[in-house]
Amino acid sequence: MPTGTSGQGPAAAAGPTPAAPGRQPWRAGDSFLSMWRELAPVGRHPDSGGYRRYAWSAADQDCRAWFRAQAEARGLTYETDRNGNQWAWLGDPLAGDAVVTGSHLDSVPDGGAFDGPLGVVSSFAALDELHGRGVEFTRPLAITNFGDEEGARFGLACVGSRLAAGQLTVPDAHRLRDADGTTLPAAMEAAGYDPGTIGPDPERLARIGAFVELHVEQGRALDLTGDPVGIASAIWPHGRWRFDFRGEANHAGTTRLVDRRDPMLTYAETVLAARREAELTGALATFGKIAVEPNGVNAIPSLVRGWLDSRAADQATLDAVVTGVERAAREYAERAGIELDVVRESFTPVVEFEHAMRDELAKILEGAGDTGRPVPVLGTGAGHDAGILSASVPTAMLFVRNPTGISHSPAEHAAEDDCTAGVEALADVLEGLACS
Ligand SMILES: [Zn+2]
Repeated sequence: MPTGTSGQGPAAAAGPTPAAPGRQPWRAGDSFLSMWRELAPVGRHPDSGGYRRYAWSAADQDCRAWFRAQAEARGLTYETDRNGNQWAWLGDPLAGDAVVTGSHLDSVPDGGAFDGPLGVVSSFAALDELHGRGVEFTRPLAITNFGDEEGARFGLACVGSRLAAGQLTVPDAHRLRDADGTTLPAAMEAAGYDPGTIGPDPERLARIGAFVELHVEQGRALDLTGDPVGIASAIWPHGRWRFDFRGEANHAGTTRLVDRRDPMLTYAETVLAARREAELTGALATFGKIAVEPNGVNAIPSLVRGWLDSRAADQATLDAVVTGVERAAREYAERAGIELDVVRESFTPVVEFEHAMRDELAKILEGAGDTGRPVPVLGTGAGHDAGILSASVPTAMLFVRNPTGISHSPAEHAAEDDCTAGVEALADVLEGLACS
């Protein structure tokens, strides 16, 4: 049970309590709702209503305690791996060819309830559903909670899965610091975990035969097609570019317009160019962060630094958008006497989920469904642990409809019926993969 939580309302108390596997015929919806209500108050800020479940914080510890309690209540073998990721096993963890499902419990600042927890809660609920169906497992099954997925505290996303997959080196992990200067190892240690063991975990990944992550959709594709659940095709290539526009600081009240070298104007034109390029190509381009020097109301800026986040369905489109924005920015800069530097700060290539597994999921879901319609297959511009793991393990994702598409905000939402549909779809997939 989470420690330090006080929100056990009457609805939660009235919900079913976990039973030993096979004893009680769980229904997907009941089990899901009971867990959802229990987890809901953990790390929720009373003013914003958003979640602040940062890696290795007290709220994160409460989420981890909740995970462990769920594992133990079901008689699953609980363990924490060398990178602090949590595992709950049904069957022999060492047998190999395991089917693994899960997501993350941490959040962005004032995040929504669904991004991450929906996948973890649905995993336990899907297992309950399978026990209710009385299926026989032929492969080991594990539920995971990957640590520090959002990167809200240390600035790098998917730290737990990156470390395990060898996509983040130990020295680089040791250099991660939060806003207070606390290093990642110090934060882990303060939370009672041994940071001395962090690093690649190939033996563990080699024991996974298939990984499936269920996640709330962070867009409106399913709302537009009218489907509660979809399958991921790919995670779009994406990156961040820093644009430094340098002009001349001067007095806002005494400098004639014709005498100014104002980098803010060039920056503003570049923002419009980014929007235009994105519209022309069907990509996404966003200037969402800006730093200004000297940053005075009555001063023409000497420097405007803007960060471009751009994502597209394929590499060629992404290249075309970023090249187009940079070309436009250089033209505007030259005309206005502004110096411009463009630096690519990060980049993640496209992650194409394994087609064989994607097709298998589609076959399972279409076989189980009664709509007679194919399950939508959609790409996403958001990163996930599944994207990191896909380099080492056959991986797939399920998305659950988010009617507004809003994510990373308290307004993030999925309807109760759609959550239940997600649990049932995940149970169908796990049954198809792990049962006789
Ligand atoms: Zn997420």
